[in-house]
Amino acid sequence: MTTATSAARTLPKLEPADFKIPTLGECTFQTPPTKNEIVSENERILYQSRFSSPSELDPSLAFEVAGLRDHLFFDPHDINVGIVTCGGLCPGLNDVIRSITYSSLAYGVKKVYGFKFGYRGLSRQGRSYVLLDTKSVNTIHYLGGSFLGSSRGPVPPEEMVETLKLLKISVLFTIGGDGTQRGAMFLQDKITEMGEKISVIGIPKTIDNDILYVDKTFGFDTAVEEAREALTCAHVEAKSAPHGLSIVKLMGRDSGFISAKATLASGDVNICLIPEEPFTLEALFKVVESRLLRQNHCVIVVAEGAGAELMAKIQPPVKDASGNLKGGDIGLFLKEQIQAHFKKLDMECTTRYIDPSYTIRACKPNASDAAFCEELGNKAVNSALSGKTGCIVGFWNQQFTLVPFSLITRGRKMIKLDENMWSTVKAMTADVTGRSEKGEASCL
Ligand code: ATP
Ligand code: MG
Repeated sequence: MTTATSAARTLPKLEPADFKIPTLGECTFQTPPTKNEIVSENERILYQSRFSSPSELDPSLAFEVAGLRDHLFFDPHDINVGIVTCGGLCPGLNDVIRSITYSSLAYGVKKVYGFKFGYRGLSRQGRSYVLLDTKSVNTIHYLGGSFLGSSRGPVPPEEMVETLKLLKISVLFTIGGDGTQRGAMFLQDKITEMGEKISVIGIPKTIDNDILYVDKTFGFDTAVEEAREALTCAHVEAKSAPHGLSIVKLMGRDSGFISAKATLASGDVNICLIPEEPFTLEALFKVVESRLLRQNHCVIVVAEGAGAELMAKIQPPVKDASGNLKGGDIGLFLKEQIQAHFKKLDMECTTRYIDPSYTIRACKPNASDAAFCEELGNKAVNSALSGKTGCIVGFWNQQFTLVPFSLITRGRKMIKLDENMWSTVKAMTADVTGRSEKGEASCL
């Protein structure tokens, strides 16, 4: 039963001001006749939808709706727009680029600039761009990756403003993860400080689905679908060998959403390790051993950031070009530790280690993600023309929302260990936290 306490526990406390979307000014241009839905300035999407008593619902805590208003801030025929993709690859990047290009050109925007290789393409030294039109982006959604390329590494915001001014760009669309949107926030601050009327609108890209205050990001569905394929193969491998053990490493530096969802989808996983829940090697060995003896095979899923504290003792983490901490390979680590354990016991264990991460990241989106990307691009353009800035296009309670950069950059979304999804995963898999007496799910 859902209690008031558990419903309240699901969401952090926020203030009405946290939801405020910056605007560039008064919208004075009548929106031209359009097939797009016109959204009223007053419409909102409730922040909290789960409750025990209606008195818990607070309509002042709500997101603005993404989309077109009845008046525009920009005359589309008078502006150029820019698109940049940063960070790691994710299925759907090209679909979003295509959607933004098509939507912008449909309004009569003069030029669509695509910056090459992330923020680097907006820097003074590395300035590089291509002009996008319907012909050049027509078929890019058939492919994975980013048509524009991507990169990591910081660029001073003043250099980016210089590039935007030079090319007379009025809207920049930033497609990227938490780092990209943090960069976009500093860029928007600099634009405001310089008194420029340039809108910065983010489209959150995180295959890990770890952006705060956004239910779903593009590429995640595809990643789970591809991960499930890898798990099916891993299961076949494990079952075909004497005392077969398959370890599959999936993406998820800080959050284990892909691993958890793929575990639910697959039904073949016996142990699911995520960054949010620490585990002990002793408990892990015990479960693997008993499964191999009774069932002859075992499948482990491990998110890349799981067991970070165990790994750090052996291999201290290093930083990548964007300052993100990168530890060693947890999948390889587990394989070595488990093999050493069974060697000591003189017990056979045929171990396979499968890491499908890069093939998952680089593939094209499934139908659901592709449709989602199309809508995201459309909502981003419509919101930007209406003078919105300093925010991303989010998705909350099945609706497209606007979420301020200042809100999503407060942290990362993580699996809540006491909530529905993880409790279902726990019911299907063994407990290796070292805290459980039982150690295993009843069906194992
Ligand atoms: P992902 O982690 O999903 O691959 P990301 O957007 O978080 O995507 P990062 O490499 O962390 O990827 O960042 C992308 C870009 O944003 C980089 O060019 C990085 O330098 C820039 N960036 C990250 N954090 C900041 C920050 N605090 N200020 C300015 N720029 C930043
Ligand atoms: Mg990131």
